[in-house]
Amino acid sequence: AVAVGRRARSRRGWGRAVALLKELEEGCATPVSRLRQVVDAMAVEMHAGLASDGGSKLKMLLTFVDSLPIGNEKGTYYALDLEGASFRVSKVELGGSRSMILKHQVELQVIPQDLMTGSTEGLFDYLATTLEHFVGREDKGCDDSDDKIKELGFTFPFPVKQLSVSSGTLVKWTKTFAIEDTIGKDVAQCLHEALTKRGVEMRVAALVNDTVGTLALGHYEDEDTVAAVIIGTGTNACYVERVDAIIKCQGLLTNSGYMVINMEWGNFWSSHLPRTPYDFDLDDDSPNQNDQGFEKLISGMYLGEIVRRVLLRMSQQSDIFGDSAHHLSTPFILSTPLMASMHEDDSPDLALVESVLTSVLKMPKVSFKARRLVVRVCDVVTQRAARLAAAGIVGILKKIGRDGSGGVASGRTRGKPRRTVVAIEGALYVSYPAFREYLNEAVAEILGEEVAPNVVLRVTGDGPGMGAALLAASHSLQR
Ligand code: BGC
Repeated sequence: AVAVGRRARSRRGWGRAVALLKELEEGCATPVSRLRQVVDAMAVEMHAGLASDGGSKLKMLLTFVDSLPIGNEKGTYYALDLEGASFRVSKVELGGSRSMILKHQVELQVIPQDLMTGSTEGLFDYLATTLEHFVGREDKGCDDSDDKIKELGFTFPFPVKQLSVSSGTLVKWTKTFAIEDTIGKDVAQCLHEALTKRGVEMRVAALVNDTVGTLALGHYEDEDTVAAVIIGTGTNACYVERVDAIIKCQGLLTNSGYMVINMEWGNFWSSHLPRTPYDFDLDDDSPNQNDQGFEKLISGMYLGEIVRRVLLRMSQQSDIFGDSAHHLSTPFILSTPLMASMHEDDSPDLALVESVLTSVLKMPKVSFKARRLVVRVCDVVTQRAARLAAAGIVGILKKIGRDGSGGVASGRTRGKPRRTVVAIEGALYVSYPAFREYLNEAVAEILGEEVAPNVVLRVTGDGPGMGAALLAASHSLQR
């Protein structure tokens, strides 16, 4: 009788777990009709954000980048590229023709956790000290130590209200950073002061968002590049806009007639975005509630956490993961890379899934059926993220008339479709094949077979840092 009772309970358990999965699938569904609504909403919000400050949740920030590198940049430049939890310093020697990046020396450094939430001075002192040591090592024995002041491209991957191409104040922190007293400060100035304190003579020639660095390198390598997207810890996009379309800055003039706009699309919101109770709860529990809504559905900081929340509910409402206590209730314990490794486990017995569940989440041995269910949950969450990012990309193409929806202005010149390249970076796209395939597939699905072949998504590789150095070079040439 005990055995029968256990079997019955377990069957009930399965029924509940499967019902929760079904609810999740329905809640996360992204048929192409819904993606098209997201495309339209993105284009509409872009217009609104360009019309007035505060006109949309999309900030559509000016970058003052009005020319992109074209290949004639020359000289030696430095780059400091802040990422999620690390940063890179590099030195780039440009030979004056596109194929001549003579030397590209890179050093990666992890940022201690406490510096991400400590003080402005602490963070910038740390960056400046690392840069000082790097420059010292690079200069040693090198004979190019003329008196020229060194120039730096500074990649700062947070929303910044630019005052010029080389200065700007922090609007807010996102991702894992939260240093209250930096908000409103000129971050280029903060770095400059920290460098000066150490006697390092270096000028910030370009202060750029990581998407803008990616666009710069993308354009340097392929002149058809008109936008850039990052899908890593956080997510964002930038693109080349006509100055006369930036209504909120009437009278703005640039030599080229265009300016790169940093969309800060992580904050995009639309009622068409499919949202489940897990997403509502995640937002409620986050320090930035009602903020970065698109980012919370798409980026690496959150995907593993969404999956954890689903598995936790399954474990509370069924016995598919056994009865014993496990770590599923610990927020953020399931990182996105771990989630991705379970999702992409192609071993016949799902051994990797088993190892994450038992070693990281401290579950008892989990049945094969339950492991398959876990993979399915990862799949649903990842697929929604990738397809929504795809809709965001097509939204940009629609705004600039490259989505094929409206004749001549829409990606056609004299009847011929126009080639359009979007530079793309970030671990989700670059290192997570399932995510990349879902995204590529959805872009093609939305655009249709006539337009899709003209749109190329191209990984730049070290776009943010290299691109910042290139922008430092192009803005140095212009002086
Ligand atoms: C930031 C953006 C950044 C993106 C990708 C977001 O959280 O707000 O400025 O470009 O992450 O790193």
